[in-house]
Amino acid sequence: MQREVLIIGGGMAGLACARTLSEEGVPFQLLEASDRVGGRLKTDTDGVFRYDRGFQVHFTAYPNAARLIDTEDLNPGAFLPGALITQGGAPLLVDQGRTPKKLIQTALSPLLGIADKLAVLRWTASLKGKNTTNLFAQVDRSALEDLSERFSQDFIDRFAIPFFAGVFLDRSLEVSANRLQWVWKMLSEGDTILPEDGIEGVTKALAKGITQGSIRPHAQVDTITRAGGKWQVHLRSSETIEAEVVVIATDVVTASRLTKDSFDTEMFGSTCLYFEAPEEPLAEPYLVLNGMKRPGLVNHVAPLTKVQPGYRLAAGRGALVSVNMLGVPDESDEALAEFAKEEIAPWLPKTQVAEWQFLRSYRIPNAQLAHRPGYAKRQPKMVYDDAGLLLAGEYVQNSSIDGAIESGVRAAKRALERL
Ligand SMILES: Cc1cc2nc3c(=O)[nH]c(=O)nc-3n(C[C@H](O)[C@H](O)[C@H](O)COP(=O)(O)OP(=O)(O)OC[C@H]3O[C@@H](n4cnc5c(N)ncnc54)[C@H](O)[C@@H]3O)c2cc1C
Repeated sequence: MQREVLIIGGGMAGLACARTLSEEGVPFQLLEASDRVGGRLKTDTDGVFRYDRGFQVHFTAYPNAARLIDTEDLNPGAFLPGALITQGGAPLLVDQGRTPKKLIQTALSPLLGIADKLAVLRWTASLKGKNTTNLFAQVDRSALEDLSERFSQDFIDRFAIPFFAGVFLDRSLEVSANRLQWVWKMLSEGDTILPEDGIEGVTKALAKGITQGSIRPHAQVDTITRAGGKWQVHLRSSETIEAEVVVIATDVVTASRLTKDSFDTEMFGSTCLYFEAPEEPLAEPYLVLNGMKRPGLVNHVAPLTKVQPGYRLAAGRGALVSVNMLGVPDESDEALAEFAKEEIAPWLPKTQVAEWQFLRSYRIPNAQLAHRPGYAKRQPKMVYDDAGLLLAGEYVQNSSIDGAIESGVRAAKRALERL
């Protein structure tokens, strides 16, 4: 069998590539190893609730996603911009102050000093003036170094570490400063949302418009070779498919294996525990962050049905809450659930946390790339071989929904040029 373009992998990158080729009318096939497309954006259901495979949010300010996905199609539920941060007891509010009331609440909050609050406003305004290209072209360094020049140590300990740990899944802030600034820009220039269908709603919206019959699930690629002026893609099932152009849109570890190259594969993991609470634990849809200097297990708590009622499928059931930890602990689910409830109880004094029922967990060892300072210069290039072997995925752009989508669109445009 022969195809003009073969896409390997149906995550955000592979789907964005497929969507762009579909719009251009180019014949292609997308080979996906698992039962369905979406990659790391999948949502399971049991008829009672929706469970994302790991806590994940979508930013409406993502520029590449916005070109392909209409946010309104997602029926979004939004977090309030900011967070509740606990130092051990009832959490304090840090809101980005988009309304006068919130601005005053944040100005009066004892959590951060006035100098830091003003520095946040200056920093946010300075990022507004930068586009993504010039932001990533800046000389890079660690986020910790960058933030230390702008803010007090107190701000870093109380806010930056717990907040950005939730984003980068690491508390060291040794992530690239450019990357952290980009995330802050996205956060402050739009809403942080959950689709009505769960995070897989983003997958469904991106897959809309892809040529029917072009996606093949349960098709795992083992090797790629070149013979007779064509690429030959060999599947685990022993089938071989020939193509003019091949786009490797898998995770970075598989891409390294398929190219026999050594890409930077350092990743951080996370663990997500779901609980049913008899009632909503918070009056407003904020994320609750662990701002203690010596945190225990829990990094952040998300009141999912408060943010997005679509996560509840069965009428008359309680609230769905996700409790998120960094890394993948060895303890059993039951032990983790008990530790978590004990840790959270003082944060939510008006809620009977002891009554929360543990529902299920997801342990994800390879959730996000580490993106150390200067990572953008070390990333593999999209054109891996001039003869038509292209790379797409977060590992050629940045570890996010938007980075993966951007890489897929760029690969599709390059494939079109070649054909
Ligand atoms: C817990 C968690 C939280 C996150 N939080 C956020 C967040 O809040 N916001 C955000 O923007 N991003 C977040 N991310 C990151 C974001 O999900 C990823 O950057 C993005 O989904 C990566 O997409 P991708 O297409 O590059 O790769 P993937 O999603 O890994 O897709 C690769 C696809 O290739 C397939 N594949 C692999 N090997 C083969 C093979 N041999 N043959 C055929 N197919 C193969 C896989 O099955 C998969 O479908 C989070 C990720 C996780 C896991």
